[in-house]
Amino acid sequence: MTIDTLTVRGKLTKQKNLNDLTWLRVGGPADYLFQPADLEGLQKFLRDLPTDVPIFPMGVGSNLIVRDGGLRAVVIRLGRGFNGISVEGNTVTAGAAALDAHVARKAADAGVDLTFLRTIPGSIGGAVRMNAGCYGSYTADVLRKATIVTRQGEVVDLSPEELNFRYRQSDLPEGAVLVSATLEGPSGDAEELHARMTAQLQKRDETQPTKDRSAGSTFRNPAGFSSTGRADDVHDLKAWKVIDDAGMRGATKGGAQMSPKHSNFMINTGEATAADLEGLGEEVRKKVYETSGITLEWEIMRVGEPLKE
Ligand SMILES: Cc1cc2nc3c(=O)[nH]c(=O)nc-3n(C[C@H](O)[C@H](O)[C@H](O)COP(=O)(O)OP(=O)(O)OC[C@H]3O[C@@H](n4cnc5c(N)ncnc54)[C@H](O)[C@@H]3O)c2cc1C
Repeated sequence: MTIDTLTVRGKLTKQKNLNDLTWLRVGGPADYLFQPADLEGLQKFLRDLPTDVPIFPMGVGSNLIVRDGGLRAVVIRLGRGFNGISVEGNTVTAGAAALDAHVARKAADAGVDLTFLRTIPGSIGGAVRMNAGCYGSYTADVLRKATIVTRQGEVVDLSPEELNFRYRQSDLPEGAVLVSATLEGPSGDAEELHARMTAQLQKRDETQPTKDRSAGSTFRNPAGFSSTGRADDVHDLKAWKVIDDAGMRGATKGGAQMSPKHSNFMINTGEATAADLEGLGEEVRKKVYETSGITLEWEIMRVGEPLKE
């Protein structure tokens, strides 16, 4: 059986441009995009898909540069059918397609503190995979269980230990798709939790280019932890600080720019290509190395292939 002859529960699109599915609005076509109708549809698709066809699970594309030549894979994007959120006591179960912000708000309504998720614009699948975090809290702190569908189509639960969380990273079996996560947050007063989230949103708008097309922090903090937002936070090993020291705040390449508002945010000012963005990032890494001897590591995931000449 070939992919073109599969019967699917969901939508299979050939040659799907990914630029409108990523926050940075760049990226060439995926060979296929599959949007499963539900869990069974995803399991059946993975079982039936020839084993030599690579898959790439995608959240809402808020941490991705897809290169201009696109992705030689089937991109799997979960939507309705995978975005339920339920709360029982302090335990929140969320589908992988649920947005972090929705999860934080629903949890707060029920008096559960997952407020750190409110300002992260990704999905729960992306949060688990990237160990997303801010203000000193991480997905790893609250995750109790993640459920995946393996490349063979089986549903399997993974413990936090199996996910092996690190700063902005976790391990998933090759070809696995996260379908839901069980999180547990501390109790809090609903009104206070909502007020805290409003303050966090305001702080983001003041300090980050939240209205621009970006993918959040471009590079990991060399110190290996997120900004806490507190006055006593140490800045000498923050990516934005070493980028400033290298004189790269506001630097441009084609339509790509290191944001003048937050130097570790790379933005698409309008007509940037993935090559502009990645090229600018590499220039920043070089300059930072020359200035401070620090090798910055990309936090934005770069996938796919460049355009062929
Ligand atoms: C304005 C802005 C602010 C940001 N602030 C923060 C912040 O404070 N803290 C932070 O940690 N991040 C931040 N980010 C980055 C980003 O939002 C997070 O990394 C987020 O967790 C990515 O989720 P996503 O759904 O967009 O994943 P994507 O970008 O689509 O994918 C990221 C990775 O997750 C994998 N993935 C996604 N869904 C699944 C799935 N269902 N199964 C298996 N793998 C999957 C993808 O394969 C890929 O490897 C910010 C981004 C922006 C644009």
